[in-house]
Order: sequence, then C-alpha cells, then structure tokens
Amino acid sequence: MSGYIRNRQRIWIMRILTGILATVFFYNVFYDAGEVSAIEYSEIYTYEDLLMMADNPDGNYILMQDIDMNGREWKPIDFSGSFDGNGYALLNVTVTGLSDSTMQTYDGNMKVYDTYLAGFFGVLSNASVSNLNLINYHAQVTAEQPCFVGSIAGYSENSTITGCNINAYIRLDAHDRMFGVGGIVGYGNGRIEGTDATVQLICNDTDSANRDEQFLGGAYGAGYFDLDNCHIDIDGYVSEHGYVHNGGVAGLYILYPSGTVYEGYLTNTRVTGKISFYEDNTDRRAYCKDFIGEVMNWTYQVAGNSSDFVRDESYDYSVVLLPHTCAEPVYTKEIIAADCENYGYELYHCQICGYEYRDNYIAREHIVEEWRIVKEASVDDYGVEEGECTLCGKSVRRITEKLEEPETTETITQSETESTELITEASTTQPENETTNEAVSETKNVEWIAVAALCIVVFVIIIAVLIKGKRR
Ligand SMILES: [Zn+2]
Ligand SMILES: [Zn+2]
Repeated sequence: MSGYIRNRQRIWIMRILTGILATVFFYNVFYDAGEVSAIEYSEIYTYEDLLMMADNPDGNYILMQDIDMNGREWKPIDFSGSFDGNGYALLNVTVTGLSDSTMQTYDGNMKVYDTYLAGFFGVLSNASVSNLNLINYHAQVTAEQPCFVGSIAGYSENSTITGCNINAYIRLDAHDRMFGVGGIVGYGNGRIEGTDATVQLICNDTDSANRDEQFLGGAYGAGYFDLDNCHIDIDGYVSEHGYVHNGGVAGLYILYPSGTVYEGYLTNTRVTGKISFYEDNTDRRAYCKDFIGEVMNWTYQVAGNSSDFVRDESYDYSVVLLPHTCAEPVYTKEIIAADCENYGYELYHCQICGYEYRDNYIAREHIVEEWRIVKEASVDDYGVEEGECTLCGKSVRRITEKLEEPETTETITQSETESTELITEASTTQPENETTNEAVSETKNVEWIAVAALCIVVFVIIIAVLIKGKRR
C-alpha cells in the first residue's frame, strides 16, 4: 500500500471516529434535556409532608390530595422550587407570624426599607406555583416594622403563579413607615396567570401620629407583576393616617431598584368588587382605582381588561373600617356539606345586621368502593391507595396509616409477600410512582457507564491508529 492510500485510510478512520463521538455526545446532551423536562416530583399527602419542604426548598413538589390545615398554625416557608397543586386544595391555612428575615422594598420615592413578610410561602425566588387551590387562607398579622402580607407569598422575586384559585382573608394592623397587603402576593415581581382570587383584605394603620406609606391590591400590594387571564374579586378596607395606594389589581406599579427597565403586561384580567378606605392626610393623594392605584412606570402592555369596581371613600377618621361593624354580633351557624366537586364550609349569619361569612372549609369528598394499593404502608411510612369515585369517576388517592410493629416473624414474611405483589401491580397502572422513578435513575446510571466505556474504547483506537501511522 502506498503512503498516500494509508494517509487517506487514516483520515477516513478519523472521520468515522469523530462521527461516532459526536453522535454519542449529542445523544447524551439531548437525552439529558429530555430528562430535565420530565421533572421528578415529591408527592405531598399530609401536613407533615408540607413541613418537609423547608428542608429542601429547591425541590419539585406535587399535591396529591386536599389537605385540611384547620387548627394548625402555619410558618411561611421561603421557596425556590416548583409546587404543583395538581388541582387539589390547602384548606384553612392560618398565618399570624412574620418571616424571620427581611427583603428590601421600595416606596414611590425609591426609599428602601427592610421589610418583613408573611404568606403561605414567605419569599418566592425563581419559583413556580401552579394549579393550587388555596381555600379559606386566613392571615391576621400585627406588625411593628415595615411588612407585607399576601396569600400565596409575602414576597416574590421573578416567580410564576399559574392556574391557582385563591379564597383569602388577610388583615394587617401596622404603623411603621411602609406596609401593605396583596390578595395573592404582598410585594415583588413575576407573573400571575390564569388565576382567580376572591379576597377580603383589611389594612389598618394603628398609629395616627406618623404619615406612612400604605399599599393594598387584589393581586399584589406593590411591585411589578405581569398579569394575564386573571379574575380578582376584592372586598377591601383601608384605614390610613398617611398615604394610601389601593387598586383592584395593585396599589402601586413600580419598577425597582432604580434603573430597572422592564416591559410587562396587564391583559385579559377582570376586576370586580369594592375598596372602602379613608386617607387621613392634608397632603392628599388618595390613590384608589379599579386596576392599579398609582402607576409609576408606563412600560407595560394593557389590553383586554374589564372591571366592575366601586371606590368607596369615607371621611370619619376615628373608626377602623371593617367588613362587619356590629359591636355585639349574634351569629347562627349552618354547616354546608362537601361533595365531589365542592368544598363544604360553616356559614355564619349575623342575626342583627345580616352580615355573612364562611369559615372552616371542608375538603371535597369522593365515594370510592374499591381501593388499590399504590404504596404499601410500612412501620416507618404511611401507605397510599387509589380508586375511582363512583359518583364523578375521578381517580383519587388516600393515605393509609403506618403499620404497627409486627409481633412474630411469620406475619412479617406473609405481609412482605403480599406487599411485593401489590406494588408490582400498582406500578403497571401508575407509572409515576416511586418504584418506577428509582428504576429510571438506575437505567440512567447504567447508560452513563456504557457511554464512558465506549469513549475510552474510541480513544484507545484513535491512539492506536495514530501510533501505527507514525511507525510506518
Ligand atoms: Zn352584624
Ligand atoms: Zn367524586
């Protein structure tokens, strides 16, 4: 063979090897990309599962059933992962405390405050919350420092809230420089889409001596959120001895910090309801509008919105404006039962003035005759069962209690055999359960070892070919 032919051979071998390497490389890059989009979620069934999120706030979580939080105080969690409510509800979440740490908030004069926060989540950063029903969320906060209170979150940084359904009561009593209430988020920026919020918001300035900055909005108190396809129904009450900023969507639209350029949007959103307020201040602004109270920056697109909104200003500065004003109310209580589609609740009716409110919501109840085991209960962990509702046909899950410590070895062997069978059965019908996830990651490991081995073989061939070529 002439040197020319040998050279050509070597070039072709090199081309083929490069091709193989490139294929392996790109296959892995795209295979990985595919893996990332199929996110693995930690399933949440109980109040205790929710608490565990604080240990891994970057994680991905999915709610697997309605959870009634009645009678339990909730401490806001700072969160930067994703939370998929999966169409289920957190009922009767109660918040009374503020966050331990602060975030910086800006007022209309770009003055900065270290501000405390409260919400189901304290601070959301680069997080997403979706398909969550937050039903009868109840926050009652008294603050001595600047603070903002919301329902989904106290503060949001570049986070997304989509497809949520919120029914909230939030009351803030405060007096220090800058404070406010948002029906969905207290303060911040991000996106809110396809979300319905029915909110009763009360913001009361407890100190008539200082002229502070007060903010209240059906979606958010202040900041710069994009909204699309939302419905906000607000019932707001503001008693302020300073400057009010109130709106059906937001109290103040402000790009912050200084120099921020952002082209946001407020589209296809409907506002209904009323804000009752007073501004006890000689230097009056009295911002109160159907969408945004005070607009600092006109950089967003506004289209397709509608409102049916009442601005209800009053001038008696000696009272605190509240939804119910009977000094000594007398209530009757009626319990409305839950069914497949609707939450139940207690309906309170004031016999003196006719005022009504709902409280202590009850989780939806399906009727399932046959339960299949998805995850066998163990001594350390609860089990999961699944079945179809005989009324609505919806597939629902329930948890089963942890097992008691077994007494004899015989019973252990028997129950272990049983559980193995049932889990195998369940994994064929339920591809996203834990067993399958483990299997997927194992396959992935094996694949990586194979790729690494292939790369080594390819490199050895290249070197061998090069050495051979040199010798000749
Ligand atoms: Zn009454
Ligand atoms: Zn049902």
